Amino acid sequence: MRFDIISVLPDLLTSPFAHSILQRAQKKGIAEIVVHNLRDYATNKQKSVDDYPYGGGSGMVMSIEPFAACIEKLQGERTYDEIIFMSPDGETLNQGIANQLSTHENIMILCGHYKGIDQRIRDVFVTREISIGDYVLSGGELPAAVLVDAVVRLIPGVLNDETSALSDSFQGDLLDAPIYTRPAEWRGHRVPDILLSGHEAKIKEWRHEESLKRTQQRRPDLLD
Ligand code: SAH
Repeated sequence: MRFDIISVLPDLLTSPFAHSILQRAQKKGIAEIVVHNLRDYATNKQKSVDDYPYGGGSGMVMSIEPFAACIEKLQGERTYDEIIFMSPDGETLNQGIANQLSTHENIMILCGHYKGIDQRIRDVFVTREISIGDYVLSGGELPAAVLVDAVVRLIPGVLNDETSALSDSFQGDLLDAPIYTRPAEWRGHRVPDILLSGHEAKIKEWRHEESLKRTQQRRPDLLD
């Protein structure tokens, strides 16, 4: 699966993809993540990618041309399943969306900055708009990194058994059960005996009950 991310601050995206599971997915050749510097597509002398808003008001607006040039170049190289604009007014990212996107071949992601991007980019090129929550960040880079991480870990072959996504919260209708590692007792706090029993079926049952309890307490909406 390939991601092309268009950003005016590509350096912001170096570290998130250079470690751990995301790094491993790229080394295994399962995921390819390419970040494009929007400024390379600026045509004017100042290499600017933004301009004043029509109608006045505060904040700069990202211009159409650099985005259009970069998007169209990429579209000339391959077909994209989705062109996603990270935006606080998009649909809120959840595990279902991540699962769905993980089945795609090629995804393009546009990162906004300043006040946002010219509406016509959204009208003409964007096929999907995704928010990572009801708050406003300075740019689309961190949201893009969140989206790519959530999607890549779901591609078959990326996670091994120990990190399997299947028992994770939101993968079914339940939150994950509490987890423990050594020591079995710390400052008087003991790990539940059942987890030390070696009884696989009973442990499975306990985990399911704990998942259910936790979901009822914290996210009853998931059980509706
Ligand atoms: N004026 C816009 C916010 C602009 S913030 C508004 O009120 O909706 C600048 C850029 O950061 C956005 O274009 C978007 O790409 C990104 N961004 C900010 N918050 C985000 C969020 N919660 N989810 C996804 N992208 C976000």
